[in-house]
Amino acid sequence: MKTALSLLALLLIAPQGAALANEEPQSSYRESSAKGSHRAGKEGEKKPARPAKAGEGKEAARLKALEQENSRLRQELAQKSGVAAAPGAEAASPEGALAELKAGNGRFAAGTRTRTQMGYNDIALRQTLAKGQAPFAVIVTCSDSRLGDNFIFDQELGRLFTVREAGNCPDTQSLASIEYAVEHLGSKVVVVMGHESCGAVKAVLESGPTPLPGNLWSLQSAMCGLVDSVHHPAGESMAVHMSHLVEANAVRQAKVVLTRSGIVEHLCKAGKLSVVPAVYDLASGQVRFLPAITSEAPKSEAHH
Ligand SMILES: [Zn+2]
Repeated sequence: MKTALSLLALLLIAPQGAALANEEPQSSYRESSAKGSHRAGKEGEKKPARPAKAGEGKEAARLKALEQENSRLRQELAQKSGVAAAPGAEAASPEGALAELKAGNGRFAAGTRTRTQMGYNDIALRQTLAKGQAPFAVIVTCSDSRLGDNFIFDQELGRLFTVREAGNCPDTQSLASIEYAVEHLGSKVVVVMGHESCGAVKAVLESGPTPLPGNLWSLQSAMCGLVDSVHHPAGESMAVHMSHLVEANAVRQAKVVLTRSGIVEHLCKAGKLSVVPAVYDLASGQVRFLPAITSEAPKSEAHH
């Protein structure tokens, strides 16, 4: 229900998203097959055998490297049994979990996804995960269709516990989801990830004091005071201002997670968890991680 509302909200408030949605995802895998079918020409005609070109050699090498990586992951999976050794459980510390997310996002941004590229072990993976889960990270992010955290961090099923709400504003049920993951599943990091050109942030900015229709007012409530907290100097473009608002909102919502959850705060103080705000860039695919929120953060800044 929540997800449906969030999606509806995005549809209502982010009309520019419709145009962007027509853009093909950056996937060399998809591009190469699309080009291949285009070249095949007439209906029913098979691609003629021809000598491999330099680019095709590079593609073959890339696929070979992927197969090797997948073979390694298959072996890794075969050694696991039970929840204690479930996929993701090897990230044993907040630092290790964050490093894994950074590495995965590096692969995604470079167009070299491995863990999510080949569907190397779907059946074996599902069988392992049916016994339990140990997602090493919780990702709190926007419902925007251009954000898929498994792709963005190149992590297959079982490794990320996801909460998605328009504007990445965690409500009480979101906090319950986060608490379940960090308390019962052992997640080591909570990343609160906003994104450039967020329709929810834009709607709150543009509506000013006028209440948004339907349940969309709840976005204004969750971001109450955000616009006033970010100075907009004369001459600064709206795009730059939006970017500052998105970053400020990610930090603010990360503080909400820490200050509204005693469970999260306790684990952070014990060094077993960290809460990290981040901003995702739609075009480059890169996630910019911001400094972790500490429990010393002034509670007065989270207007909840
Ligand atoms: Zn958004």
